[in-house]
Amino acid sequence: MADMSTTEKIQLHVPALEELSAVLQIGLQTNFAEVQVSVVECPDLTKEPFLFPVKGLCGNPRIADVGGVPYLVPLVQKEKEYDMNVISKEVELPGGFFLGAGAVASRVVGMNAELMPLVLTAAEGRPAVNGSYFSSINPVDDQCLQEKYCNKFSDCHFGLMANVYACEGKPGKVIEVRAKKRTGDQSLVTALRKSLEDHYHNKSVALGGSFVIQKGKAKIHIMPREFSVCPLNTNDEVNNWLKHIEVSAPLICQSVLVSRDPGLDLRVEHTHLFSHHGEGGHYYIDTTPDTVEYVGYFMPAEYVYRIDRPKETHEVGRD
Ligand code: ZN
Repeated sequence: MADMSTTEKIQLHVPALEELSAVLQIGLQTNFAEVQVSVVECPDLTKEPFLFPVKGLCGNPRIADVGGVPYLVPLVQKEKEYDMNVISKEVELPGGFFLGAGAVASRVVGMNAELMPLVLTAAEGRPAVNGSYFSSINPVDDQCLQEKYCNKFSDCHFGLMANVYACEGKPGKVIEVRAKKRTGDQSLVTALRKSLEDHYHNKSVALGGSFVIQKGKAKIHIMPREFSVCPLNTNDEVNNWLKHIEVSAPLICQSVLVSRDPGLDLRVEHTHLFSHHGEGGHYYIDTTPDTVEYVGYFMPAEYVYRIDRPKETHEVGRD
């Protein structure tokens, strides 16, 4: 089962938004032809295309890395299951809003699948609002089958691993990133992370938020419905097991990234996307560098929490 007795918490470096904006502007220009980073009022995230259960990304921002890839490979540990309502207390933000990237609880869903968590956790006198999506491989056409979690299930469980950004879901000032035409070989998320790493060196700066791929296509993966019965020991074996698909804009991507691992065995970037046309999964990079257009909203996190960290770890399957 999940072990909540080992949770670690580390304070992160939190630059002022204006400073962060300038750092990202300079960094992203090495990877995109057109870049505009600024500090803006967070758009209303209850509106299209987001349709989140909260209005904004503000209020006590923090990130958490729960479980990890070592619970999936080489062989699955199905008993690794978590409840977002419990996680909200573990990160000292009960009733907070959570977004990010994870895996479903296979016990609940009846199969393995990608999870796009979007959960306003339960608070005193108010039940949780689960706006999450999950995505599996459709046995009919071997393509993507994205479903709304709340249409089938009424809980807030997930399995194996998740990288989440949590906040009070309030409106407020955020970083807006606009980028067009990719000239480098880094994804938007990697470019953001490297920009921070290059500037802040040994200080750990983390961002969480949501970005939209407005034009173009992207490469994603979806885990098979069945866990591998053969041990997956290398990145090649993991990649052969995963199903890779190309998906089309508009795509709404939830991202958690940290410039440098402060010694917690973190997954330093993890992004899952959903859409309103039935495509969703784990984001790698756009496949249309000449025409791609991104707009995103991010906040720096004040703390990172490491929850149920695997005792036996490895670097396989973290792309
Ligand atoms: Zn993923």
